[in-house]
Amino acid sequence: MINKERLLNEFLNLISFDAESYHEREIADYLKNELNNLGFSVDEDDANVKNAIYHNFDPKLSSGNIYAFKKGNVKGEPILLSAHLDTVSPGKNKKAIIENNLVKSDGSSVLGSDDATGIASILEALRVIKEKNLKHHDIEIIFFTSEEPYCKGSKVFDYKKIKSKVGYVFDLSGKVGNIAISAPSIISFKAEIFGKASHAGFNPEDGISAILLLSKLINNVKSGRVANDTTLNFGVISGGSLNNIVPDYSYVTGEIRSSIHNKAIHELKIIENELMRLTKEYNALYDFKYDIEIEAYRVDIDELVIKRYKKVMDNLNIKDYELINTFGGSDGNNLNKYGIKSVVVANAMNNCHSKDEYFYLDDFYKSALIALHLIID
Ligand SMILES: [Zn+2]
Repeated sequence: MINKERLLNEFLNLISFDAESYHEREIADYLKNELNNLGFSVDEDDANVKNAIYHNFDPKLSSGNIYAFKKGNVKGEPILLSAHLDTVSPGKNKKAIIENNLVKSDGSSVLGSDDATGIASILEALRVIKEKNLKHHDIEIIFFTSEEPYCKGSKVFDYKKIKSKVGYVFDLSGKVGNIAISAPSIISFKAEIFGKASHAGFNPEDGISAILLLSKLINNVKSGRVANDTTLNFGVISGGSLNNIVPDYSYVTGEIRSSIHNKAIHELKIIENELMRLTKEYNALYDFKYDIEIEAYRVDIDELVIKRYKKVMDNLNIKDYELINTFGGSDGNNLNKYGIKSVVVANAMNNCHSKDEYFYLDDFYKSALIALHLIID
């Protein structure tokens, strides 16, 4: 039932928008119009205004989250499908190269299949039900804005307006058919050290080197894969001002991921305790801040959202798929947090967030077919 040519053309159209995070205005306007044409009531929230505190861009370049609803005509639960509007950088001037079954980036930017194959799969499903006049469930669509910088759009969405108890987030790389049923907490942190400046040649003994303390902190706190379900990364360091000054300031930022939220919190405590101990020992001061970007979830395999998915896969006679645990976050984390049991569905994208991003057309057709059957079966 999928119109393969229309699906691919829509993908190419979607990646023609330079929709890097916080620059989703044009793609959002296009999609609002399309959803309207497909018979949906469409609403945009003010996530772009709320999120302006995170960046220096004009919120007018960005968009809110796009929410759309269409009443169904079969008995059964309302179904939510979602994808996200933005891409990582470099995501401008994207060019796709198509070689038989393969679609890849020309190597100068990301391809944008994260998440344009997700959006296109959903649109194609909606076009098919309209064109063929198919009976369907109540359908809710959310195209979330600014997902890549730790799900900033879905973080501020008003979930009270959602009717669905089950959600399918089209935003997973790897084999199409697979779904992610759990994802980790991600917490970002910033540790600052305030030492004391002095002349590096005349009186270094009067100074307290904030860089030295920072290096001890990084050395003393275990990083990398700190447990089988937990990682800690020191990502950015900075400090000091001149070669002849004992540095009085330094900082490190990083992130912690864990499939168990309390374990992520525990790692934060380890960093802060060591920071406290070191700065006390060396007579320095510190500041420690963190942001819980997303919270871990795990959907039980008895939940309706998974049972329905399995039923759809049976109907489509697709047998080779897996329920996986991902270590990446998505809007699914926020949907689950606010009570909409959601899984993340693979939608034809590989090597995401790199200039080597690619997908196979067969996978893409399958992703659109799954989107369609999720709302008609
Ligand atoms: Zn994505």
